[in-house]
Amino acid sequence: MSASSVILYIEDDPASRKLIERALETAGYTVVCAETALRGIDLARSLLPDLILTDINLPDLQGHELASVLRNEERFFHTPIVALTGTNTELQRDVALAAGISGYMTKPLNVSTLRDQVKYFLEGGRDSIDAERLLAGKTRYTREVVTHLEQRIRQLEDANAALQHLDQMKETFIQITAHELRTPLTLVYGYVRLLEDFPTLQSLMRQDEAVSSLVKGLVESIERMHSVVNEILIISKMLTREITMNITQIDLSMILQRVMKGFQDAINERHLSVEFEATQFPQNMRGDPELLRLAFSNLVGNAVKYTPDGGNIAVMGEMINSTVRIKVRDSGIGIDAEDQQFIFDKFHTVNDAELHSSSKTAFGGGGMGLGLPIAKGIVEAHGGNIFVESIGRDPLSCPGSTFTVHLPLVTTRTRTGRLGTQGDE
Ligand code: ADP
Repeated sequence: MSASSVILYIEDDPASRKLIERALETAGYTVVCAETALRGIDLARSLLPDLILTDINLPDLQGHELASVLRNEERFFHTPIVALTGTNTELQRDVALAAGISGYMTKPLNVSTLRDQVKYFLEGGRDSIDAERLLAGKTRYTREVVTHLEQRIRQLEDANAALQHLDQMKETFIQITAHELRTPLTLVYGYVRLLEDFPTLQSLMRQDEAVSSLVKGLVESIERMHSVVNEILIISKMLTREITMNITQIDLSMILQRVMKGFQDAINERHLSVEFEATQFPQNMRGDPELLRLAFSNLVGNAVKYTPDGGNIAVMGEMINSTVRIKVRDSGIGIDAEDQQFIFDKFHTVNDAELHSSSKTAFGGGGMGLGLPIAKGIVEAHGGNIFVESIGRDPLSCPGSTFTVHLPLVTTRTRTGRLGTQGDE
């Protein structure tokens, strides 16, 4: 074995690591270090070192457990795996050799002993053990591994419980904050609407365009804040399964007409052409009208937001057996294949969030990445599914996107059905 052999050295104590690393490098070896057993295993698999030197007491796995893992793989059948330890009892040695360690080096090591021992193991040397002690070592090792495993499972369960508690606290905090914000916002919105109706203000708005645009901007901003707070509240309730569905007889055609009406001003302002024929949609479905309106509002809102002025939006429906298929198609910027799998995840946005405008309907308006997860949660809670098709994202050629929603004619949920994001009840 040449002196430029690669040695993987796994040690969590920085001082020891530095010392041995330097000694080995001075001896002409290439040394790669890891601080934990798991990182060491990953490095071993990618580097295939000539020798692995490992501390026995590591923070995650014990050194001999690391040896067991690697020895299971053919490529490490013959790699020397040497344990480095401060204590070296016979029992410890037997357990380690039974686990697949090739041999032991005991700390403190002086440079020439280290060099000699590394050379010995690189040249195929092994510490020997007789059959009887090997068997006893194996039995003890199995017991130790099981005990270690039990400890780790308990630690993980405790950590998981603590995380769940923290997550619950976070959701509660978000819900309380959103509630607290929504109440005064609703009042402010009401006051502004009342103010708009004041004859003095109306005549002022007619006389002065600046006043009129200020009031319009105020109303739009408050509406936007209101819808942002609502989105946060809804997604948080979805995650904690606190939204109750009110399933009734619904008229999907009317729901979609309301959605389209909500965007009419933006559609006119942005010169978008729309294909929408209300009669295509069934009038005898069952579902939650408010939630479905919200889901389609998010889809049509996105179509408006991501289609440049003068583009086209189509909302089409058809019946396929007892399923309703609704497509929301736009001639907008499109979505890359790699983003398509993530856009239904909460808080996933493709654009740089800092570039988002504050308007919900301006081109490239952006948002918090909650619209699609909310739509998906609602559709799935109705027993339906949603997916997207687009050949890619290109703001210049605008290949467009199509969102397809399948909904059963009759949602099987009961009046008190709860809403999850996966529809997995
Ligand atoms: P946002 O509030 O950011 O619009 P959404 O959850 O509604 O959040 O959408 C997530 C991301 O998916 C958006 O940031 C956008 O990049 C992309 N997206 C959604 N709908 C469209 C669409 N019709 N055309 C192009 N991109 C879209």
